[in-house]
Amino acid sequence: MNLTKSAICVFCGSRSGTDPIYTKAAQELGHLLVEKKFDLVFGGASCGIMGTIADAVMEKGGGVSGIIPDFLSTKEVKHDRVKDLMIVSSMHERKYRMYEKSSGFIALPGGIGTLDELVEITTWNQLKLISKPLGLLNVKGYFDHLLKQLERMVDDGFLDPQTKETLIVSKDPKELLEILSGRFI
Ligand code: AMP
Repeated sequence: MNLTKSAICVFCGSRSGTDPIYTKAAQELGHLLVEKKFDLVFGGASCGIMGTIADAVMEKGGGVSGIIPDFLSTKEVKHDRVKDLMIVSSMHERKYRMYEKSSGFIALPGGIGTLDELVEITTWNQLKLISKPLGLLNVKGYFDHLLKQLERMVDDGFLDPQTKETLIVSKDPKELLEILSGRFI
């Protein structure tokens, strides 16, 4: 499937977390993406809140594009109901394809994989390899400690404050999506 509208790539956990609030947030964001006419690009798995957001988008008739590396397609259980599912040969290719397909990014709560993806996008933006907005959906203050760490990096002279300011942070998916889409180029 060729994505015809703007696509937003959502990074999120391959697990669902201990609080149902995370699943609820993924569902809400999925429904909102369709309402605002965005397609979803995601990691292509059916597990965790990755699967939840893809299901939520498809439930409302929205477009979903999944990209999963071959070696993970059984471990993470590839999402069989996603028609546009690209199987790639490495994690690096997965991330590259996700980045090139999307106009912007949102990180939901997740683990190391999610952290890796959101940090990489921030690095690429910092190096001006891309210029695409990234939002953090700060459900239940999930990213508060990360934001504190970034403040520490700025205070101790390891991070340009402008780089930190490129992150859009909100606990409200609607607000996050509005600010994010206002920054598309
Ligand atoms: P996690 O947030 O750890 O549940 O992972 C979310 C997604 O990121 C999953 O689809 C993982 O395959 C992927 N992932 C996990 N570890 C890495 C990594 N080191 N680099 C890139 N992606 C990863």
